[in-house]
Parts: sequence; C-alpha cells; structure tokens
Amino acid sequence: MSLRVILRERKSRALNPGTFGCLQGAFTINVTQGCGLSCTYCYARGYATAPPRGDVYLFINLPELLRKELDSNRRRWLPGMVIFNTATDCFQPHPDILEVTYQTMTILLERGIGISFLTKGFIPQRFIELFKGYRESVHAQIGLVSLSEGYWRTYEPGAVSPREKLENIERLLVGGIDTQVRIDPIIPFVSDTREEVEALFKALGQRGIRNASVSYLHLRPAIQRQLRAELPSLHWKVLESCFENQSWVEVGLSTKTKLLPKRVRENGYGRMKTSAQAHGISAVICRCKNPDLNGEICVPARVRKAIPGRFQGKQQLILFPC
Ligand code: SF4
Repeated sequence: MSLRVILRERKSRALNPGTFGCLQGAFTINVTQGCGLSCTYCYARGYATAPPRGDVYLFINLPELLRKELDSNRRRWLPGMVIFNTATDCFQPHPDILEVTYQTMTILLERGIGISFLTKGFIPQRFIELFKGYRESVHAQIGLVSLSEGYWRTYEPGAVSPREKLENIERLLVGGIDTQVRIDPIIPFVSDTREEVEALFKALGQRGIRNASVSYLHLRPAIQRQLRAELPSLHWKVLESCFENQSWVEVGLSTKTKLLPKRVRENGYGRMKTSAQAHGISAVICRCKNPDLNGEICVPARVRKAIPGRFQGKQQLILFPC
C-alpha cells in the first residue's frame, strides 16, 4: 500500500492532556495525523481532520516542540507516562515517521517519563535496543487478532503480517520489555472460531505472552461506511446480518455505537478465556467496549500505576482506534 508522507509543522502542543474519564492525568501523543495502515475498522479514519486514504501528515517538529514543552515545565510537572497512538500508529513503514518516533520516544525516556504504545506495524530493532535501556518505563501492546492470512489481507491490509507481529512479540520479550497483546476487533465468524482462537493463543503462549485484552468489533457510522465500502461483499453481508437487530447506543465517548448481540459476545469471550487459560494467558474483556458485560479494565498495570487515581470505580477508557 503506497504511503504519501506530507511534512507539517505542529502548531498546537505536543502532549495532549486527557480530558475525560480516567484519561485525565494521562498525556497522549500522535506522531502523525492520519495513519497509512488504513485498517478497515479504524474509527480514527472517520475524523473530520483525517487526511485522504494513503496520505499522512507527519509532525516534523514534534521532537523539538516536545523538548521545549518538557523543559519549560520541568519544575512544575512531568507526566508519569505518555501514551502513543490514540489516533495513529507510530511504526508506519516510512523512514521519516520512524525517525520522528525514535527522537520523540528518546526525549521522553531520557527524562524518566514512561511510554506506552499499541502497534500493528513492525518495530525496528533500534527501538528494541532503545527500550532495553529503559525496561521499567516501556509498555508495549501488539494488536494481533488472528494468525490467518485471510483476516490480515481483508481487515488490516496495511499492517504487517501475523508472522511479523509474532516476531515483534518475540524480540520485545527477549529484550525484557513488558508486552501484552490486544485482540481487537474480533470479527464474528472470521476470527472467533474455536480453531482460530486456539491457534492464536497457542502461538502467544509459546512465545511467553501472559496477558491479553479481548474485544469484539463494534460499529459506529463512519466504521460502518468504511467496512461496507472496503470489505468483500460476503464479509460485509455477514457483519451486517450480525448487527441488523442492534440499536445505536451510547458507549464511552461515542453517542452512536452498535454492539454485537450480548449472547454472541458472551459465547465468544468464553471460548477465548478458556483457550487463553489453557496456554497460561490471562485474557481480559475490555470493559469500555462491553459496558453491558462484566468486563475488566484492560489498561495494563504498568500504565495504571503511572497514572495514579484514575482507575477506580466504573471509569472507562478508550485509548486506541482499534
Ligand atoms: S486501527 Fe490503528 S493501525 Fe489501523 S489504521 Fe487505525 S490507527 Fe492505524
């Protein structure tokens, strides 16, 4: 998939304070506006400010801006952790994007500030070497829903292959980096069959993954339009039939969301938890995307610790566009 990177000067702040729920107290950062991985289900692609598909605006001045912000604030505060990729992926395969990401992460880590990221891209080895120097400050999440080539080509054609995602996991774990897997969005009848689920958790368990979060696909109007336009018609028809009797409801920040029928999710999550447990993995149901189930907070312990006081009670967090 071709990626056109357009350089932009960022005018607003580099770090954005969270303004809702438990994101208050967290700081987020996005290296680009738009994401070249173009997953079919990505809600960030529907933002009014998102560039056209295939285009990405890279904030070329981000490291300089960040350095100034942190230095000018040094005496007053430093964030405990900065969360990357709430609306993009910092490991898109372009040298300029990777360079800005590397500089930005280095600035944070050198100042004792933790970083957390979710990615579906390939993590170059120089990042793993960087993280090794700051093992206590890095939390990695790999987005991996299925090992099947069919799922990859159909739903995440711009992401790296399942094999490369497993390689990311191996290299991170060998480097001693805290790593978990985000299995989201699970696609009914595609990635939630017994065979698919078993193959995935077996591969993860063998590589040493011990924690995963799971969540089924949900629809928002923009996601629905993308899926209808980009999926093969058979896939879209199956999905459409799964959601057809579901009402639009308010979930988290979104006022119009359709969840899969509760029974479908309960059965699927049951299969996943059983399979995960058999392979030594704790699978947590993402609560913010399943408000009608007994979900859990899928935010990793390390991130929770770095953002104190934000994860009690029923507060919800929606951090990632996938
Ligand atoms: S879901 Fe994540 S990786 Fe995929 S297009 Fe959106 S931001 Fe990029």
